[in-house]
Amino acid sequence: MSFPVPDPDLAYRLLTGASPTEALFGEARRLRDEGKGRTVSYSRKVFIPLTTMCRDRCTYCTFAKPPGAGGVYMTPDEVMAVVRAGERHGCTEALVTLGDRPEDRWPAARDFLSDNGYKSTLEYVQHMTERIAGETSVFPHANPGLMDEETQRALRRSNPSLGLMLENISPRLMEPGMPHYDCPDKDPVARMETIETAGRLSIPFTTGILVGIGETPTEIIESLFALAETHKRHGHLQEIIVQNFRPKADTRMRGVDPPTIEFFSTVVALARWIFGEEMNVQVPPNLTDDFGIYLDAGINDWGGVSPLTIDWVNPEAPWPHLDHLRSITEHAGFDLRPRLPVYPEFANDRWLDPALLTKLVGRADDEAYAVVEEKATT
Ligand code: SF4
Repeated sequence: MSFPVPDPDLAYRLLTGASPTEALFGEARRLRDEGKGRTVSYSRKVFIPLTTMCRDRCTYCTFAKPPGAGGVYMTPDEVMAVVRAGERHGCTEALVTLGDRPEDRWPAARDFLSDNGYKSTLEYVQHMTERIAGETSVFPHANPGLMDEETQRALRRSNPSLGLMLENISPRLMEPGMPHYDCPDKDPVARMETIETAGRLSIPFTTGILVGIGETPTEIIESLFALAETHKRHGHLQEIIVQNFRPKADTRMRGVDPPTIEFFSTVVALARWIFGEEMNVQVPPNLTDDFGIYLDAGINDWGGVSPLTIDWVNPEAPWPHLDHLRSITEHAGFDLRPRLPVYPEFANDRWLDPALLTKLVGRADDEAYAVVEEKATT
């Protein structure tokens, strides 16, 4: 008997244990195998924390720091040095991640920008991603928070894909006492508008949800269906990241239990069911010890893995060594393949700026996966 089509009520019953999940997991694996075969991908990247200052105050975050306590911008030279080191290690992605609009909160941020000739952090992002795209063989993938249409149009010329996690669609998480209180960039309406805008501009887009920050099962399901709706309109979501919250020692949420593996795996399987066989579904492999189990929930991607730089968002959680990632993946019966920051199905002139497409052809094999050229082996 075939599994039902995606439906929020059934999703709720599955997630809350009111319906058995065995058939859901079977359906998730069937859909993944149907759409992606036995290929599981990852992106070989360097992590560029362009600024660790942020105007928001998410209560689970250790990435953002005040000036004087670790909150800084990377200089252009520092950025290019990391990207060039990544180039030598065969990396094809520079993940440019940063705090949101720190200049709105911190005078030190305004000083850095004016000293270096930028009107805003987003303009600095644009400048540096243009340099990375123009001067190296690496592709930038910027993840700079909320972006309006003009910003996305500009970034599209140097970034083959952009990203913004929805995290969750619920405005309740912005209420006093909740993790996104006093975090204007976590307004789900504004985040959905950024994601919609990317669709209108034909930008391959990475988004996803963060599971375990105080949301309800209904809010998780509403988040997944909201993303599925925007994807139906534009077809631009190249991947859905399902990320598990991990409590960090120096945060207000240090005492909050992370989601159980059973619950989190069910969310992953729901994501595969809701988005279907064509979607790329990713779980980061460095946030669970036994990460191979997510292959049983229908994923086909491990996201960015760096042979060189730490995960600045989760610095306590090192990425698995690529040999270990390959061994776990192959042991489960899959081929591990490096991909570019844009997935093969988006590597064409419908989605990419012509100059980027030309560069991409030079870094890709005939199926538009990445060709890794390592010049150093430490
Ligand atoms: S999670 Fe992102 S938006 Fe929130 S405080 Fe940290 S850097 Fe800023």
